[in-house]
Amino acid sequence: MPPTQYRTVHTVEVTEDRIGQTVTVAGWVQRRRDHGGIVFVDVRDATGIVQVVLDPTEIPEAHRLRMEFCVSITGEVRARPEGTVNPDLATGRVEIGATGLEVLSPADTLPFMIEDRVEVDERTRLEFRYLDLRRPSMAANVVARSRAIAAMRRVMDRLGFLEVETPTLIVSTPEGARDLLVPSRLRPGTFYALPQSPQLFKQLLMVAGVERYYQVAKCYRDEDFRADRQIEFSQLDLEGSFWGREEVLETLEEIVVEVVRELRGVELERPFLRLTWQEAMDRYGTDKPDTRFGMEIVDLSDVFAETEFRAFSATLDAGGVVRGFNAGGQETSRSRLDGLVERARELGAKGLVWMVVQPDATLRSPVAKFLSDDELAAVVERLDARPGDLLLVAADEWRTAASVLGQLRVELGRPAGHRELAPLFVIDFPTFEPTEDGGWAPSHHPFTAPVDVDQMASDPEHSISWAYDLVLNGAELGSGSVRIHDPEVQAKVFDVLGIEPEEAERRFGWFLRGLRYGTPPHAGFAIGIDRFVSILRDEPNIRQVIPFPKTQTGADPLTGAPSAVADTHLAELGIMLRPGLGADDR
Ligand code: ASP
Repeated sequence: MPPTQYRTVHTVEVTEDRIGQTVTVAGWVQRRRDHGGIVFVDVRDATGIVQVVLDPTEIPEAHRLRMEFCVSITGEVRARPEGTVNPDLATGRVEIGATGLEVLSPADTLPFMIEDRVEVDERTRLEFRYLDLRRPSMAANVVARSRAIAAMRRVMDRLGFLEVETPTLIVSTPEGARDLLVPSRLRPGTFYALPQSPQLFKQLLMVAGVERYYQVAKCYRDEDFRADRQIEFSQLDLEGSFWGREEVLETLEEIVVEVVRELRGVELERPFLRLTWQEAMDRYGTDKPDTRFGMEIVDLSDVFAETEFRAFSATLDAGGVVRGFNAGGQETSRSRLDGLVERARELGAKGLVWMVVQPDATLRSPVAKFLSDDELAAVVERLDARPGDLLLVAADEWRTAASVLGQLRVELGRPAGHRELAPLFVIDFPTFEPTEDGGWAPSHHPFTAPVDVDQMASDPEHSISWAYDLVLNGAELGSGSVRIHDPEVQAKVFDVLGIEPEEAERRFGWFLRGLRYGTPPHAGFAIGIDRFVSILRDEPNIRQVIPFPKTQTGADPLTGAPSAVADTHLAELGIMLRPGLGADDR
């Protein structure tokens, strides 16, 4: 960065080769120490820290300096005295002997120290986010996010994508979450929706002849907050025409490789692993498998086909499965094992059977006495069990067994604190998932192309779609699909979804009409930027990499949003609040 009127150099540039030079640095007072009448100040800017020594007899203002005062200081670079060198600091061999000090602005007493190690509750951090972002690890997150987005744009540009903006005041889009609404003043009683994604607009851009589209897009979903969701989030959204799945997946690999290279300095191997949805569910019990560790789930149903053990035979007779995995060497105290059974119940399982392999390869288990020797031996063999291993087995309906075992697998096996990256694609998602009222909902969104249209109509349960997900270390980084470009297929999908033609026309007529003007085959994807950056930065939650996030309850402690508005403003919008919800007129 070039010099400005407030500085000639950045702190990081103040190194031994400048000894004897006069420089001006500008930044914040990170620390201030008084030693025998001399004031030592660490000045921090966006690049680092440098030590400045001020003599108050020459610069009386030095006494005024407090933490986080914003200053510009001029002085001569000199070598630090013997014994005071700090080898951990880029500028640790030198200091600036100040000849001039300008306090650019003072700082109030801080709500917390500007240091990484200080524990502060998140609400306070968010209320003073501008101070929180001064902390080195948070400042590094801001830098990383910017570099990740720049890397994404670089790839998109290289591959000939156009960045096209789409509106954020729109009608409802069908990603399946609740819309955030914005009342219209010019047409009282009507509302805009904020986009859950640019989905329909990007598809219409394909109709419009834009062959490669991307956008760093803000998306809004009014969901109940889970640990790693935000009401407002950012996606790298992309779409291409005359494209199919392979082109999308290749493009995604380029993006992921470039961003990982940028933030981690490592080269990921291509092609990424691919698992079908069925394989992922069978082996890992989830559609976002973490493949950094084994503990794969194994089907044991055939082992127990003839079993006398009622809990297993009844489940199998009812069309369920018996499945399990080898959790390896674990602590197997009775209370821990009881805890695991309890956890499985919490996750929705009917129960959980644990077995501990004894030194003589027999199994210690509350159900051992109900199982035959052959059955026990087959379990040991199937699960490749060694003495000391803990085996966990669930008998349940397939989906429940998968999700419970999948969750336990992650809780028992997920590697903590190691930096391996395991990206993969999950492909061949089902087109639909069952709804509670016996109907069908789209697994992805209703514009996703089924692989076999006729089968989709006659046997929705087993229909596979051209939808795919990108998964990194067990987290879903994003989804996409090949889209329907034939209005008749689109109508059939609505039919399975129970959306009457009139309703489709009312909700998406504007979009469906577009499909009738020569729509090219097209496909696309959206990567969640927040999650991607948080994983690469080893941050446990996405709020750490969002400059100004909301809390778990959708609030912004910095600004006080969401807030009540004046009645006069509501009146202009034609809105009257229910009694008890109104604000005073302000
Ligand atoms: N619009 C989709 C989403 O946000 C992604 C896509 O299909 O491209 O999940």
